[in-house]
Amino acid sequence: MRTRLFPLPFPPEDPSPIPAYFETFAPPAPVTEKLEGDRHADVVIVGGGYTGLSTALHLAERGIHSVVLEARDIGWGESSRAFGQVVPYLKHSPEHLARQLGHEVAERLVDATGRGPDLVFGLIEKYGIECSVVRNGLIFGAHSPAGLKTLHARTRFWQARGAPVDMLDASRTEALTGTRYYHAASLDRRGGTINPLAYVRGLARSAIERGATVCARTPAMRLMRAAGGWRVEALGASVVSPVVVLATNAYTNGEFWPGLGETLIPMRAYQLVSRPLDEPARARILRGGQPLTDTRRLFSGVRRHADGRIHVSADGPVFDMSAEAHVNKVNRRLAMLFPGLGPLEWEYRWTGWVGMTYDLNAHLHELARQ
Ligand SMILES: Cc1cc2nc3c(=O)[nH]c(=O)nc-3n(C[C@H](O)[C@H](O)[C@H](O)COP(=O)(O)OP(=O)(O)OC[C@H]3O[C@@H](n4cnc5c(N)ncnc54)[C@H](O)[C@@H]3O)c2cc1C
Repeated sequence: MRTRLFPLPFPPEDPSPIPAYFETFAPPAPVTEKLEGDRHADVVIVGGGYTGLSTALHLAERGIHSVVLEARDIGWGESSRAFGQVVPYLKHSPEHLARQLGHEVAERLVDATGRGPDLVFGLIEKYGIECSVVRNGLIFGAHSPAGLKTLHARTRFWQARGAPVDMLDASRTEALTGTRYYHAASLDRRGGTINPLAYVRGLARSAIERGATVCARTPAMRLMRAAGGWRVEALGASVVSPVVVLATNAYTNGEFWPGLGETLIPMRAYQLVSRPLDEPARARILRGGQPLTDTRRLFSGVRRHADGRIHVSADGPVFDMSAEAHVNKVNRRLAMLFPGLGPLEWEYRWTGWVGMTYDLNAHLHELARQ
């Protein structure tokens, strides 16, 4: 077992609150319940982000009653802090995954991830989740010959499976994004953007409407075996259930289930949102409505919101909870992409823990048998 680089305090701390910018255009959080007494449930879910609430919603659709315990507010962890791209890709290519996991498992994983946007946009439509959804596709710029090769290979792979993915030449890339920086790009029409906070609140509301019990501001403190399965204790109350799902991701506390925290490396990721652009700049920059990332590295995302603000992913110190984003790097990147745009004033900033793993794959652990 690896040693965690540093333990997160409990309840999971984050000096950066839920992004105020997303609050400006998200419906309020649904009313949640107070956990009292000793209850029973078919499933207890610890963590009220996408993983926990999507689990609760899908269980409720099958008539299975769950109780969701969230230490803070709904979506307080990664789920409210995301950039907001709905992406059908994993970190590794299908060939890499096949070498790592074997052909059959890799195929299932790649297929499920490719259908991910359909699942998310399908839930949004089915439950009428108001989250500023835009499904115009995603643009990935090729920043180098190697990046171009990667995009070509990925595009061919998905085209062979009938997915709506195309290569764009430099002029089509410029027409959609307003930048001449890339010689080519790919456009994947499966993806799109959402307001991440609004989406997680919508999942909570939909799960509650289907019969799930959601308790915000209820940190689960202890998990122990009990007659009938497991007992989860929180705020002097408890829930007994045959099945417990721990959906705490990067905000996992080391003590709740010893060893689980060590499977993750929480790393800081930073987001900046500018003041609204003026009309001429809005007409020029990202006019196709797609977010733009490139093959360079993780933090290259740029999107333009409906109110004309530019939103970027930024990097900064990865293990320091109170550090600031590398704003100068962001400004240089934007000046390179959009010469003439001028320096932007960053009105909103936030950060969050991202749950990285040692092999850059998502992990699902079966922690114990009943
Ligand atoms: C800055 C940033 C940008 C991102 N951008 C994107 C993007 O554009 N596209 C994309 O696909 N992904 C993006 N991600 C990743 C994405 O947000 C996460 O993969 C996703 O939100 C994880 O959801 P989750 O439910 O697994 O975890 P979380 O949303 O982190 O939920 C875990 C919850 O568990 C709670 N918790 C922890 N311990 C306890 C306890 N003991 N009791 C009760 N509750 C507890 C926490 O409070 C937390 O709310 C981004 C992440 C960050 C931080």
